[in-house]
Amino acid sequence: MTSSKLDQFLQENISDLKERGLYNEIDTVQGANGPEITIKGKKLVNLSSNNYLGLATNNEMKEVAKKAIDSHGVGAGAVRTINGTLDLHIELEKKIAQFKGTEAAIAYQSGFNCNMAAISAVMDKNDAILSDSLNHASIIDGCRLSKAKIIRFEHSDMNDLRQKAKEAVESGQYNKIMVITDGVFSMDGDIAKLPEIVDIAEEFDLITYVDDAHGSGVTGDGAGTVKHFGLQDKVDMQMGTLSKAIGVIGGYVAGKQSLIDWLKVRSRPFLFSTAVSPADAVASKKAIEMLMESTELNEKLWKNGDYLKQGLKDLGFDIGESETPITPCIIGDEKKAQEFSKRLYEEGVYAKSIVFPTVPRGTGRVRNMPTAAHTKEMLDDAIAIYKKIGQEMKLI
Ligand code: PMP
Repeated sequence: MTSSKLDQFLQENISDLKERGLYNEIDTVQGANGPEITIKGKKLVNLSSNNYLGLATNNEMKEVAKKAIDSHGVGAGAVRTINGTLDLHIELEKKIAQFKGTEAAIAYQSGFNCNMAAISAVMDKNDAILSDSLNHASIIDGCRLSKAKIIRFEHSDMNDLRQKAKEAVESGQYNKIMVITDGVFSMDGDIAKLPEIVDIAEEFDLITYVDDAHGSGVTGDGAGTVKHFGLQDKVDMQMGTLSKAIGVIGGYVAGKQSLIDWLKVRSRPFLFSTAVSPADAVASKKAIEMLMESTELNEKLWKNGDYLKQGLKDLGFDIGESETPITPCIIGDEKKAQEFSKRLYEEGVYAKSIVFPTVPRGTGRVRNMPTAAHTKEMLDDAIAIYKKIGQEMKLI
């Protein structure tokens, strides 16, 4: 017999979510995740992926992945500390360190794991973490896991950060204090004010941690937000993912050798969860090599981002203050944003609505993620559909 308590819990909560319109029906993509995708047999311009450079379907990466399957098999076989550390993992980590301009790097199975692992390995209950109010869920969970005191500062508000850093130091309650921020904020496309953040960190002796999931491959000619500002020597922990611009799966932290040595003996997802597969490791390494050799894809990404932004702006949409290719189209009313996204889908554009609590109430939006793989024709089609639905719903 199965638990009646569990059945009751699930039934009540799922119906509650459905009644409130919050139950997310997940679409299945048939085939590869590219600039166009097929869902329920319908071809759509895909403006919803994080595959910024189109590398998820890159041929050179596919080739090295196939070879790695032949030479190393499909799985790493064990956690890294037992015998799952393959030569391919070490080569990937060396490449990441070169890419980020640090002494060393450690790879994890996902960006989410990485934040859970690295924050909690460094911070504990005697510490405090100053966290931007719009930081990603995995940062929030990593902070919670560490048991450190979490002090949120207003999004990118440097006066608030400075004040809270000062209070935390003057309280004398904490051993260590960390400031943690996304490098690029994925809902608005704005870039963290890293130069000010590192200044405040220097003044108050804070540990600096930047989650550059949306910056790597995008900002700093592809090398990320820390490089964009030339702050490689001033950020202690540079975290990134291999699942967005890099196009594969996995996450990493780059920093000093001593930091990486510590994470290898103390971070739990590294110690207790199997490493990424050989194919993932070599495909990620190949992607990084390609980014280091040429900025062509990065330039194409920014060009496409600018083109889409200008197109939507010319139509009269509010595209916010994005500083990156991420292009929000702010509708305001949550229901309207959802309806807008649904109509885009019906007409051939896949762009998801994002509403409270992911973004503040009253700023419901459809978020567009142009990539280097989109052609001008695809973006023109999307802009024409935006025009049609915008006029139909009297938004422009
Ligand atoms: N950090 C940020 C800022 C993210 O946006 C994401 C992914 N949405 C992650 C971490 C987690 O990365 P991954 O998908 O590789 O687990």
